[in-house]
Amino acid sequence: SDGADTAQRREVSVFVRIRPTANFAHGLIECLPDGQTVNIYHRKDSRKLQDSKKGQLSSWSFRLEGVLQDVSQEEVYARVCQPVVQGALDGYNGTVMCFGQTGAGKTYTMTGSTESYKQRGIIPRALQEVFREVEKRTEHSISVHLSYLEIYNETLVDLLSPLQDSPQRPPRGMVVMEEPGRGVFIRDLSLHPVHSEEAALSLLFEGEMNRIIGSHAMNRNSSRSHCIFTLHIESRSQILSDAKYIASKLNLVDLAGSERLGKTGSEGQILKEATYINKSLSFLEQAILALADHRRDHVPFRQTKLTHALKDSLGGNCNTVLVANVYGEAAHIEETLSTLRFASRMKCV
Ligand code: ADP
Ligand code: MG
Repeated sequence: SDGADTAQRREVSVFVRIRPTANFAHGLIECLPDGQTVNIYHRKDSRKLQDSKKGQLSSWSFRLEGVLQDVSQEEVYARVCQPVVQGALDGYNGTVMCFGQTGAGKTYTMTGSTESYKQRGIIPRALQEVFREVEKRTEHSISVHLSYLEIYNETLVDLLSPLQDSPQRPPRGMVVMEEPGRGVFIRDLSLHPVHSEEAALSLLFEGEMNRIIGSHAMNRNSSRSHCIFTLHIESRSQILSDAKYIASKLNLVDLAGSERLGKTGSEGQILKEATYINKSLSFLEQAILALADHRRDHVPFRQTKLTHALKDSLGGNCNTVLVANVYGEAAHIEETLSTLRFASRMKCV
């Protein structure tokens, strides 16, 4: 591709994060010292991997932007998200997305664990950094609004204003909209002004609670939905009265579990959920690949709510980072390979 164009274009970066295993999986996953290559070994019989000669093994190799194994939450944030946060404060839309099978660590990566401060994930750390920068960048007046959207079976749910529409004002229903000058937005999704890290964290917490309560009330599994936590950042120069006002969005996305269903026995709700998830992940892939292909002028954003909602925050002038979350255990090898294949197709972008 020609240099001038690629210089402007912000690439899609893809990382893999390997969930630590209790009994280390005997070299199932090998990370090379380049920090970018991950090799997977597998043998069909149950003998231990370390007793195998290389010829008895199946192996696969994947090269990505970075392999995160035995890496702290702090370092994951620094490598994966910090550049995107800085970009957003400078006016570039950004998206950080975790994907992979249920249990592989998407929510741990995105939100983290409440067990200890050190285990905070990407979202609380991004909020901390944004409010630190708001204090530092005194030459700008920066305002931040938050929204938290859940997409379940192509239905949009507001995690920060659930089920409280009064009968006098029935909800019109949330819809992905586009307007010139305003870009993409979700009609009726609540936007919450926040002035401090603490206020932002309490909204995040409220949204997490609503995700859990909502999934119980509707009798569904919360790992079957996509969640998009968005910081809407607006910045105006305090010094230059004619300086342009900049606005950007930073989307922090916890995607639904990507696992395939068993060939038999799935029906009803479970089958329906899986069908919607497969469809949205496959259109996400198509949208990202189409964005990278300079010859294609049609990108299929409107095919699913997920890609439509992220339309102006993927590819082009945006920072896009994907984190493929995988298990370290041999028992999950099929899903691990499928997640890594998806990851490396995105990386070619
Ligand atoms: P997912 O959201 O992909 O379904 P979770 O993030 O909920 O998976 O992770 C499943 C469990 O594994 C959680 O108890 C989580 O705390 C734990 N876990 C995941 N990744 C890590 C990690 N890198 N370090 C420690 N614990 C982890
Ligand atoms: Mg999860």
